[in-house]
Amino acid sequence: AAFTKDDIRQMAKDEDVKFLRLMFTDLFGTIKNVEVPISQLGKLLDNKLMFDGSSIDGFVRIEESDMYLYPDLSTWMIFPWSTERGKIARVICEVYTPDGKPFEGDPRNNLIRVLADMRKAGFTDFNIGPEPEFFLFKMDENGKPTTELNDKGSYFDMAPMDLGENCRREIVLTLEEMGFDVEAAHHEVAPGQHEIDFKYADALAAADNIQTFKLVVKTIARKYGLYATFMPKPLAGINGSGMHLNMSLFHDKGNAFYDEKGNMQLSEDAFHFLGGLLKHARSFTAICNPIVNSYKRLVPGYEAPVYVAWSGSNRSPLIRVPSSRGLSTRLELRSVDPAANPYLAIAAVLEAGLDGLRNKLAPQEAVDRNIYRMDAEERQENHITNLPDTLHNALKDLAADEVMRNAMGHHLYQSFIEAKNLEYNSYRTQVSEWERDQYLELY
Ligand code: GLN
Ligand code: MG
Ligand code: MG
Ligand code: MG
Repeated sequence: AAFTKDDIRQMAKDEDVKFLRLMFTDLFGTIKNVEVPISQLGKLLDNKLMFDGSSIDGFVRIEESDMYLYPDLSTWMIFPWSTERGKIARVICEVYTPDGKPFEGDPRNNLIRVLADMRKAGFTDFNIGPEPEFFLFKMDENGKPTTELNDKGSYFDMAPMDLGENCRREIVLTLEEMGFDVEAAHHEVAPGQHEIDFKYADALAAADNIQTFKLVVKTIARKYGLYATFMPKPLAGINGSGMHLNMSLFHDKGNAFYDEKGNMQLSEDAFHFLGGLLKHARSFTAICNPIVNSYKRLVPGYEAPVYVAWSGSNRSPLIRVPSSRGLSTRLELRSVDPAANPYLAIAAVLEAGLDGLRNKLAPQEAVDRNIYRMDAEERQENHITNLPDTLHNALKDLAADEVMRNAMGHHLYQSFIEAKNLEYNSYRTQVSEWERDQYLELY
């Protein structure tokens, strides 16, 4: 909804809002918020609210750390879980520098920039329908998450009503109260694993929604004594959690991916966009699968993609074309995991697709067979390559791809590479339990 400043003042008054949570997202996808009393509302609405950005990951600028928060009024929302002392509202903000420019280290600003490029290329909207998955773990008596799963259920199970089912139901109800259009919520394949799909939205709103979604899931889970995690692969030996992205591009005349008369009823634009996604798939992996643990998920045998291929039917490849056509014509990218910063991930895949459109990139042929049953030679014949197998290799692929580096912008890219190299090195220099089990007595 588009609210005016007066609408906001009125709603704050009518609902007796006492606190404002001003939210933005750091480089790593973590939601940050500055909480101010309602007395600051006027200042906020005049774009005069300042904060010190120096301790925010990826924000550091030695010369000046004062930043301004410009509220995006359309994101105004009152939390359903108000405190006794009154209600709390949140607004998602854009971070601006003191000289009134969008701060380049703000991932949301970066997505806004890439969306402007999309409009220049003649499109109106990039719609994203996410399918986030997560695990519910039990908590110990100190409120610390354990690795004990909450149930033994599996895909679409109708288990006797357990804590997880009730918790998921309350998450859905809360999301609906907050204006989400939940389309599906079900138990996933792994025990303790759930998926909630909500209606697609334009890229920026979709990224905002993903952030709000995570907050709601974690908040409600806690009420049930459960810990919700979006870590991509919390337990070895069972499926990890992905966040498939369904995407479609729109122009004045409707869905740009649909063409009644086209091959598979897909337009040329759809094939070019797909060509771009495939071309840049390895290099956007670092962005869509940004942590060491992401690569423990991208292995054969757990319904997560490993190879760069697409298909109109098969479930195993990286990109799938779900069967719906017309307005719902879309591409589903299955590599993304919920540790990804949604603003960065969506900007990256959009830029990859736009590159495909600009350069009329043709996708390799569709693979409708099970890739996991092919040997290396067959995969080569079918032009099927691998996704990077470690964060280290993913970062190398990203570094070598100018289009994907530009999708992040210089500031974000520099901070990202620096932070991620540190992360990988810290991991690399650990000695794990697995190594001691394997080697201590053998050598
Ligand atoms: N959990 C699987 C993944 O890691 C996806 C399972 C599914 O939705 N079919 O991507
Ligand atoms: Mg799904
Ligand atoms: Mg799923
Ligand atoms: Mg899916």
